[in-house]
Formats: sequence, C-alpha cells, structure tokens
Amino acid sequence: MAPHEAAEPGWIVAEDGGRPEGRSCSHLEHAVPEAGSADAGGCAECLAQGISWVHLRACLTCGHVGCCDSSRGRHATAHYEQSGHPLARSLEAGETWAWCYSDEAFLRPDPR
Ligand SMILES: [Zn+2]
Ligand SMILES: [Zn+2]
Ligand SMILES: [Zn+2]
Repeated sequence: MAPHEAAEPGWIVAEDGGRPEGRSCSHLEHAVPEAGSADAGGCAECLAQGISWVHLRACLTCGHVGCCDSSRGRHATAHYEQSGHPLARSLEAGETWAWCYSDEAFLRPDPR
C-alpha cells in the first residue's frame, strides 16, 4: 500500500504549550516516519469488539494502528503498554504530530 505523502525526514521534539519546557525524547532515531497508513481502515481491536473510536494513532515502530485516549478502547496506549513501542503518530487528516508515551514528549516532523 503506497503512502500518500513522500517520506518525511524524521521527527523532532516540539514546543508544547502547557507542558514543562525542555522535554527530550531518546527514541527519535528509531522512529519510522511513514509507519502506519491512514488507509488502515480503523482500529482492528475496536472493530473486533464492535466498538467505535474517536481518533487513530499509528505506532512508529511497527505500524500498529490503534485508537486514541479519547476513544473507549484506548488501544494505542494499550499497544505501548504491551509492546513497549514508545512513539505513535496521529493518523488524522491534516495532523502531523506524534507522541512519545515514554518521555511524554510532543513531536513534530523535522522541517529540514
Ligand atoms: Zn521518547
Ligand atoms: Zn481501539
Ligand atoms: Zn508498535
């Protein structure tokens, strides 16, 4: 399945209003910027349980697609807890950010 966008160069820690300054993330070099696809069709675990989700997140380590913490299933967080994969990006159209569960750091694409 071909991605819609050209591969992004990578991720950097973003300034995140409302959170403490100076966050860092030690996982950026392991991130796969294009992991996951908006064409994934939804959260597989929610589909299996017959529940709906709010937003989708894609694991930047393995491409697992799960739902966000506003969703009943919280499967993206569950994936982090089960797999230890720390980074997930938003799959929402027009949103280009990611989150490190381990460092609680907000990430955005490196604008290089
Ligand atoms: Zn991190
Ligand atoms: Zn889910
Ligand atoms: Zn993963």
